[in-house]
Amino acid sequence: MPDQPRVLIDEERIAARITELGKEIRAVYGDETVVCVGILKGSFLFMADLIRKIEGPVQCAFLGVASYEGTKSTGVVRITHDTRLKLEEHHVLVVEDIVDTGLTLDYILRILGQRKLKSLRVCALLDKPSRRKTEVLVDFVGFEIPPEFVIGYGLDLDEYWRNLPYVGIYDG
Ligand code: 5GP
Repeated sequence: MPDQPRVLIDEERIAARITELGKEIRAVYGDETVVCVGILKGSFLFMADLIRKIEGPVQCAFLGVASYEGTKSTGVVRITHDTRLKLEEHHVLVVEDIVDTGLTLDYILRILGQRKLKSLRVCALLDKPSRRKTEVLVDFVGFEIPPEFVIGYGLDLDEYWRNLPYVGIYDG
């Protein structure tokens, strides 16, 4: 295994920000049900922590997406797992690990936008606004970060490092 990554956002800061996000999100939806749709796989830890900080009625679903082989951040993605939950007539909150070029999120929003939802919003733990190739609105952002490749807290490098409790940068 390579050396330990350097810490960008430690566990305490992540936890504190997620507590704030939970309150911000509940304030927007009032007492209505929020259907949190986690985008697999990177958002699974964030999703687990976030929903416990949104008080009141919450439902969970997951959407699996993968880039078509041979493409890198082109936004050409396919659905590998659908939500298996009726989203129509519900407030849907997409829960993403990170928004980079924005192409993947743009695709996801276009797909979900075809369903008759009450509302569609996005919560991303990390945002790299300087890398954007398409304009996407992220309603709730955990942390804006510099344009570096980050790992940990669900985010991987070749499927490793998802179990790192903090967000780090691997210089190796
Ligand atoms: P985008 O389409 O916005 O360029 O990228 C979306 C996906 O690329 C993210 O959901 C994530 O899976 C992956 N990604 C983008 N930036 C990073 C990064 O810094 N680290 C990791 N591990 N994945 C990233």
